[in-house]
Amino acid sequence: MPPAEPPNPPGQVWAHTGQPFTHREFDTLVLGAGRMGASCALYLRQFAPTLSLLLVEEGGLPNEDGATLLAPGVWSGLGVPAERQREAGWTRAQLETAFGDISFQTRPLVDLHAAPGANRVPSRDLDLDAALVDPALVDTDALAWASVGTLAATYRPGALALNAAQAAIRAGAHLMLNTRAQLCGDGSVTLERLTVTNTHQIVVHETHRVRARTIVVALGAGGPHAIDHDLGVHSAHARAYRQFPRLNTSSTDASPLLRAHGLTLRPQNGGYTVVPAIHHRDPAGYVPVGGKLTGVPTGLRRETLEDLVAAMDALPALGTDALETGRSLSDVPGAWFALPHGKPDGLPLHEQVAPGVHLLLGGPHADTLGVSTAFDLAARIAGVEGRPWEELE
Ligand code: ADP
Repeated sequence: MPPAEPPNPPGQVWAHTGQPFTHREFDTLVLGAGRMGASCALYLRQFAPTLSLLLVEEGGLPNEDGATLLAPGVWSGLGVPAERQREAGWTRAQLETAFGDISFQTRPLVDLHAAPGANRVPSRDLDLDAALVDPALVDTDALAWASVGTLAATYRPGALALNAAQAAIRAGAHLMLNTRAQLCGDGSVTLERLTVTNTHQIVVHETHRVRARTIVVALGAGGPHAIDHDLGVHSAHARAYRQFPRLNTSSTDASPLLRAHGLTLRPQNGGYTVVPAIHHRDPAGYVPVGGKLTGVPTGLRRETLEDLVAAMDALPALGTDALETGRSLSDVPGAWFALPHGKPDGLPLHEQVAPGVHLLLGGPHADTLGVSTAFDLAARIAGVEGRPWEELE
């Protein structure tokens, strides 16, 4: 029997500027440690353990802010086109087992409608009370029909990013935190190590230029801008600002996910997180601002406010104090999401945008197809054939 390969020693972590950094070259740089970058880094360690890898993150933790932390963490086959359903199923299995404890939990998704349709049953028959849905939440006269997705699941994308980054480090990836990356267009990247002054200003402490054969741009909503601005590659991708107001109507671990009027209600921390639809890309330069409800300023952007008002009759709790609308934007959690191809329903993708440079985009469907997309890119970079989901029944 050949001797077993010695395992890679764990990688190095540069968390702050007091830790000197002298490297000049890596085989692979992964820019951005959201769930897309962190899971891609982990798969790369598994496929290509001999390639040196540096994961770079602007925040002080893998995914300190960004889409991953606020993403609803709802796996659902709803809205996934037929040709990517098997891939979604494979992702579900990975979420269940491959990333440690990410609070993965199977939960039915009750999709509520006013009218009958294929696979819909009268919503009264579902006995939502018994399923621990507060009766004040759903008007079953207005939403008289429902279909149920029994395979839906919830999990914490932030935990996924953190666990994936930690596992990647254990497998030999290096991680640089508090560092802003900028593409240079010649196969190199500028790394600005950030620090905080005693007046709480974030400033650049030092700058390094690092070269790599392969660069993965996993900067979330900032990715398209980076390749556009720094590499001069025009892309059709865009971004949108999405907010997640909280609804303090009681839920338990056993409560189902609810969907109605384009809104998803995700049971979380004893209440619900309201996940509004994304209607369109936000134009370059858009600055999120709160709208007014009957003359009173709220922290919700206008489109989301309109969606909630339109759903209030069918979901009466939205019209009560249980909904936290805030008074200004900072009161309501929100983040920028990438929109692949500029479309609100754009699916996760990766694409080579310059020699050795790959853009990795998650976006609104990253909960369901993000991990498989990161896996696919890692396999491609490592020269490993095959998409395991294509072998599934
Ligand atoms: P995704 O779902 O694609 O992973 P996120 O927005 O969660 O999207 O992740 C992108 C990550 O990239 C965030 O953690 C963010 O802090 C980080 N990031 C954004 N811009 C830069 C940059 N210029 N340099 C380093 N990290 C960045």
